[in-house]
Amino acid sequence: MEKIIRSRTGAEISEADERQLLDTIRVWLRRDVEDKVLDLEHADEYPHEMVAQMKELGLFGATIPAEYGGLGLPAQTYAKIVATISETWMSLTGIFNSHLMMAAAVERFGTEEQKNRFLPRFASGELRGGLALTEPHCGTDLQAIRTKAVRDGDDYVVNGGKTWISNGIEGGAVALLVKTDTDIEPRHKGMSLFIAEKGPGFTTGRKLKKLGYKGIDSAELIFEDYRLPAANLIGGVEGRGFHQTVGGLELGRINIAARGVGVATAALNRAVEYAQIRETMGKPIGEHQAIQLKIGDMATKRRAAELLMLDAAMAYDRGERCDMEAGMAKLFASETALENATECMRIHGAYGYSAEFPVERYFRDAPLMCIGEGTNEMQRIIIARQMLARNPA
Ligand SMILES: Cc1cc2nc3c(=O)[nH]c(=O)nc-3n(C[C@H](O)[C@H](O)[C@H](O)COP(=O)(O)OP(=O)(O)OC[C@H]3O[C@@H](n4cnc5c(N)ncnc54)[C@H](O)[C@@H]3O)c2cc1C
Repeated sequence: MEKIIRSRTGAEISEADERQLLDTIRVWLRRDVEDKVLDLEHADEYPHEMVAQMKELGLFGATIPAEYGGLGLPAQTYAKIVATISETWMSLTGIFNSHLMMAAAVERFGTEEQKNRFLPRFASGELRGGLALTEPHCGTDLQAIRTKAVRDGDDYVVNGGKTWISNGIEGGAVALLVKTDTDIEPRHKGMSLFIAEKGPGFTTGRKLKKLGYKGIDSAELIFEDYRLPAANLIGGVEGRGFHQTVGGLELGRINIAARGVGVATAALNRAVEYAQIRETMGKPIGEHQAIQLKIGDMATKRRAAELLMLDAAMAYDRGERCDMEAGMAKLFASETALENATECMRIHGAYGYSAEFPVERYFRDAPLMCIGEGTNEMQRIIIARQMLARNPA
């Protein structure tokens, strides 16, 4: 009997339909993406044409329920899509990952009115955006943010700034984390999350220059007496923003794990191919034991990363708390991406260092996964705390 995969909201997809969806995406990657990545990446150019195609594919609504116009995919299917696209160009996944994190905040915590108002526009890709949490002085310690929203009639007036925000320039909205009470203790009780659409008082600064993850815009956001309708406060009640943000990070970490799996897979595949083509001492380098040891480790870790990603996604789809599983997947997959990228470069020798091949890009893209959605140092702490909490002596 055909296996059915279920999302946490009860939506279903058969394995055959999932295979077909992944095949469609692979055809698109081969036909419209693969040959263009090198130029766009080196120019750090936003891939407008590909974004239009991603809209057609429904990727901006991938995890948004069908009743709001999305595909309503389970996390497992979504993770496989992200891994598949990341094999070709990891940056593309950030354009809809961050957007879907914003959508998930509305879907999980928004009022019915907010879901009806925002989710169909998010799902079609008409209104795209991301998650605006980080500020110049704080990333990990989110409770230290300083951007402030003060109630004024039917609006809030926002002042402050965010940085490193993915889709900050090209997007039209963000899920914006602010302080609505700066005095309250504990500090998280004074934090609120809004959907902020661009308008007077909400401007973007420069596109930040980065080691990798190019093409997609990472930007500063500036709020100067920006009037934000109170109707955009997610869930309609102040003080829940920290909980709403942290609640979305499980899916965010599964996203990052999937990106790591994609980059680790690309690096492995390139290495396996090159090891059979390049010869030294009269034989393909893949016949030298030193190279075999590398490939053995790369393949094993890649597979382990994939299984951890699926394990976390399945727990998420079952509706279970999975911060530990998502943390393990994110930690292991991102470190594997970095290791595989480094080994792939070594196996390629000088060609691995060349800007004319994709190998050096994996090496520049991989470290981001160790930083984003909670650094890997923090993942280890989250995993350890859960181990202790779940196993009382
Ligand atoms: C390309 C890119 C895209 C990004 N996109 C977004 C986005 O879309 N939206 C957004 O809001 N942010 C985004 N970020 C920001 C990212 O989420 C933060 O960089 C990340 O959370 C880490 O914060 P930080 O850089 O301020 O480091 P810090 O918090 O200053 O940490 C510095 C170091 O200290 C360690 N550390 C911190 N606290 C502890 C602790 N308690 N115990 C042990 N070690 C600790 C960290 O692990 C790290 O090694 C992006 C960043 C990059 C590079």
